Amino acid sequence: MSELVKLSIHDDVAVVTIDNPPVNALSPGVPEGLESSVREAAANPAIIAIVVIGAGTTFIAGADIREFGKVVAGTTKPADLPAIIRSLEDSPLPVVMAVHGTAFGGGFEVAMGGHYRVIAPTGKIGQPEVKIGLIPGAAGTQRLPRLATDFAVAARMCVFGEPIGAKAALAAGLVDRIIEGDLLTGAINFAREIASQPFRKTREREANISDPAIFDQLHAEATRTRRGQEAPLAALESVRNVTLPFDEGCRREREIFVRCLHGTQSKALIHAFFGERTVAKIPDVPKETPTTQIRRAAVIGAGTMGGGIAMNYANAGIPVILRETTQEALDKGLGIIRKNYANSVKKGRFSQDEMDRRMALITPQLTWDGFDQADLICEAVYENMALKKEIFAQLDALAKPDAILATNTSTLDIDEIASATKRPESVIGHHFFSPANVMRLLEIVRGKATSKSVIATSMALAKKLGKIGVLAGNCRGFIGNRMVHVYLREAQFLVEEGATVEDVNSTLYDFGMAMGPLAMTDLAGIDVGWRIRQESKHLEKPGVRRPMISDRLYDAGRWGQKTGAGFSKYDENRNPSPDPAVVELIEEVAAKAGITRRPISREEILDRCIYAMVNEAAKILEEGIAIRAVDIDIVYLNGYGFPAWRGGPMFYADTVGLPKVLARIEEFEKTHGSEFWAPAPLLRQLAATGNKFNG
Ligand code: NAD
Repeated sequence: MSELVKLSIHDDVAVVTIDNPPVNALSPGVPEGLESSVREAAANPAIIAIVVIGAGTTFIAGADIREFGKVVAGTTKPADLPAIIRSLEDSPLPVVMAVHGTAFGGGFEVAMGGHYRVIAPTGKIGQPEVKIGLIPGAAGTQRLPRLATDFAVAARMCVFGEPIGAKAALAAGLVDRIIEGDLLTGAINFAREIASQPFRKTREREANISDPAIFDQLHAEATRTRRGQEAPLAALESVRNVTLPFDEGCRREREIFVRCLHGTQSKALIHAFFGERTVAKIPDVPKETPTTQIRRAAVIGAGTMGGGIAMNYANAGIPVILRETTQEALDKGLGIIRKNYANSVKKGRFSQDEMDRRMALITPQLTWDGFDQADLICEAVYENMALKKEIFAQLDALAKPDAILATNTSTLDIDEIASATKRPESVIGHHFFSPANVMRLLEIVRGKATSKSVIATSMALAKKLGKIGVLAGNCRGFIGNRMVHVYLREAQFLVEEGATVEDVNSTLYDFGMAMGPLAMTDLAGIDVGWRIRQESKHLEKPGVRRPMISDRLYDAGRWGQKTGAGFSKYDENRNPSPDPAVVELIEEVAAKAGITRRPISREEILDRCIYAMVNEAAKILEEGIAIRAVDIDIVYLNGYGFPAWRGGPMFYADTVGLPKVLARIEEFEKTHGSEFWAPAPLLRQLAATGNKFNG
């Protein structure tokens, strides 16, 4: 018998325990062990029922995702899970699946092969395969709708991949009892209760589709909320087959599963899944690097970013001082925090008590009191070097010796900021994204003197705050904004050359971006970009083309959504519409610059915006600003609304093929000049050697 699955006898009940730490994944050996253990138990005449349970903190949490890659590469032949689940279902003795922790994906498919399911109050079940671009592949789309008393719940679980808790599972007929107290004891007692009763195989039930309109509704919802993704619609296609005989439904499910498995989207999503874990690994900052405890924090500036940053600490239970220069700014900042929390209470995310507890952790003030106690101070004042240096000099005088001095700057030189202190080793960038209480990315920027302990502590803090920390080197804009700079540059060049604002926005939106580049500019604020440009005027090269339209919009007071107009006009609900005034402004700017306007294809819009980023990213990679290509992908997926199912800009370039990307960049170089389009040497080298960014 497999070491991963153990059989024990508890008087008249056999207990099969899956013991494959940490999450009892369905690694090779687990399905086979399950099958043989259940068979062995059923052959024992002293046994009246069988309980299957997971060791440790969970049932089978899911498939071993690493195995999928090996299956596609043909280096492994997995166990026939559907057949094994079928054999469990064919057991002559009733099988009770005892779920705690999570029973996801293949784990829940196994659970549905049992004749009964009991669950711990905190247990969760789900078919989250669509989140990695797959559909359930071991009859999940066929058994789940047959098992559920509420067909819509089952279909939604397959199509959207969201798990459900114990109570909802009981209400939908997906489990038979919630067991308070010890799960194993409860499951054994349950097994004895049902042992003498006739039992049903899930696959022999019939799905109860009370309203066939559900399929069209789910199709519409999936198209809208999972824009561009193939897996949710593929899962729905498979769920529809639940009206066919079970075996035929399963055969088709397999076909759809294999199609998804070999498709680009699942590879991209699996790349993103593992990428989130990879970015935590920093070659020169090993796991053993000492970290400090962040018990108290302080934030300077209660504006757009500072308020959200303070919420992050409070959410993690860390008391935080929030300092402003005027009572008015402080009241405004605190008002927004209160409103955000109140919204969460209204939506049922947490209780009023919890909100009160979090608010009490935030101490608003106009003084520097308590800054000498803070383990971490995060500065979020205006993007102005002189101001930031003044503040860091002040912090140097105030902060305790081992405090971390972080800046939320989006573009400025961390080393120059650090030079205002006598402790540059303590200075680091903590680049949160707006809204800081929502966005998952935290770009952590190391200066040349930043200590390893400060880096390690920052990475650990990111995790504690529920963020994905990605380490970047110090350069203008770091990873994310350095790339977005060239992306927005091309978007503006394109409208100056003749593309419409709407074409530029919709092309990138249709590609899968959360919003078009000019819509993003309108949301972030034309004034914000303007301020950043004022800080970098000294870097402008004379005679080199630069976008002009944003400055004109700024001068015209069209600062984007906040003023009701930017590249587009906005109604009171912030819905955009084209604005002839902008067209005039653009034509004027273009005429003045001697640009001959022309029709521009969507293909050119897409390639120029995306490949400008890819080329810049290749430079970021070769300069060592990003550790790996996947770090760049994770930044873009979590901070810039790049579609996860394309895997990030580097993964996307890999899927297009680097020689093709290079050829297109060379074309643009000929037309638009080497200043913008000289191919990155790394891109040339990888393209020439048949390699990939994510090799
Ligand atoms: P903001 O204008 O909304 O807020 C800045 C706040 O700092 C203001 O409330 C101001 O009163 C306060 N302030 C100024 N001097 C101060 C001082 N000496 N002490 C205390 N408070 C002071 O600006 P923001 O958008 O929150 O940007 C803050 C920083 O975050 C900037 O460096 C910006 O580049 C960066 N950032 C902004 C975004 C974004 O999307 N807005 C995203 C990432 C990073």
